[in-house]
Amino acid sequence: LLACRQIPKVELHAHLNGSVRPQTIREILEERSAAGEALPVTELQLKDITACGDRSLADCFRLFDLIHAITTTHAALSRIAAEVVRDFAEDRVVYLELRTTPKARPEYGMTKESYIKAVLDGIEFALSQQPGQQPCDTTSKDLSSPSRPGRGDGAPKGKVDGREAAGCTLGVMAPRMDGCCGVALSPADGPAAVTSDDSADGITDGVGIIVKLLLSIDRREDAAAALETVQLAARYKCRGVVGVDLSGNPYVGSWASWSEALAVARAAGLGVTLHAGEVYTPFETAAMLAFRPDRLGHCCRLDRELAEALRSSAIPLELCLTSNVLTQSVPSYPEHHFAELYVAGHPVVLCTDDSGVFGTTLSREYAIAATAFGLSMSALMELSRKSVEYTFANEQEKQRLRSIMDRASATT
Ligand code: IMP
Repeated sequence: LLACRQIPKVELHAHLNGSVRPQTIREILEERSAAGEALPVTELQLKDITACGDRSLADCFRLFDLIHAITTTHAALSRIAAEVVRDFAEDRVVYLELRTTPKARPEYGMTKESYIKAVLDGIEFALSQQPGQQPCDTTSKDLSSPSRPGRGDGAPKGKVDGREAAGCTLGVMAPRMDGCCGVALSPADGPAAVTSDDSADGITDGVGIIVKLLLSIDRREDAAAALETVQLAARYKCRGVVGVDLSGNPYVGSWASWSEALAVARAAGLGVTLHAGEVYTPFETAAMLAFRPDRLGHCCRLDRELAEALRSSAIPLELCLTSNVLTQSVPSYPEHHFAELYVAGHPVVLCTDDSGVFGTTLSREYAIAATAFGLSMSALMELSRKSVEYTFANEQEKQRLRSIMDRASATT
């Protein structure tokens, strides 16, 4: 595990509310309790949320609903986003595509757009706290108080009142960069956020991270709601939204509800990734393959024909070993389809899915792959290096990541 922590890694499949620290859940509840609020979960449910064990897929979705009932405020979202970025950075993830489902909650004064802004504020705050960073743009952030996000102690706040986005792009955080939040003041699709010192050590020493955001469509959403999310994703490209995801309970909804919105996303230049084949849904999985998304997630339950179609499509696959085994989508690590696809040379990326819910880290996923599939350190390094090619980063960012990987490969 320690050796895997040294590898610079790429995380492409991490759900925000699934990556929340159990301790943060407890603290948010304590705050709400101290404020005299009735708690949305029972003691027993709280134990379940913070237990990090194996649970069925159906149990997971019940759990997500409970987490959502707790993370209802903009401040909570900003805090969680900031902590998730920090956790991945500390695990030597050098590129993170975080995903989350924007939720409108009128009872908490939250719209889908204000949800997105709160998450972006949290990410930008975390980036601004990295060593060597200039403070964030204070016209758009209240950063007067101390550095730890959340609990009213300096977390980004007040950014959810309909003001315009700050106009900066989430990006590389590395020392000595110009612009706010460790990011360049570049236009939406502009050059990578690397400005003054491309060889700065900040990103190569395990501290630096590039962060992008994907917006998820929940399978419970209808066509109009899906389209709204896609439109917001396009609007927030200027702050580092690079794609859309389709996720949620695989037993719910139908492909026809979201396919048009996903086509709009593609036309808008957004990356598209789909949760596919988590359960056996052959018609839907075939339709998803025919759509030719940029990436797919899971694909655990494919019959022979679909598996063949996947292989010939060469669509990169986000694979989440712990999640798939704990939810029993796959019977055991050695039987995970990673093995077959890896040997066949299919593009695969190891990911965490829900690091908080499943109690894992990306380094741990690499360590599991090493043990279960007999991969050497240099094979793991190569796996990570190849992952760069499947990101939704722009070419300049990819180039930067490639050089980080090349340098790390040389010493592995
Ligand atoms: P959020 O989008 O940040 O709220 O993260 C939690 C959400 O991600 C859940 O409510 C699901 O919609 C989605 N999600 C997390 N893990 C999985 C998974 O394994 N399969 C499908 N959807 C998932």
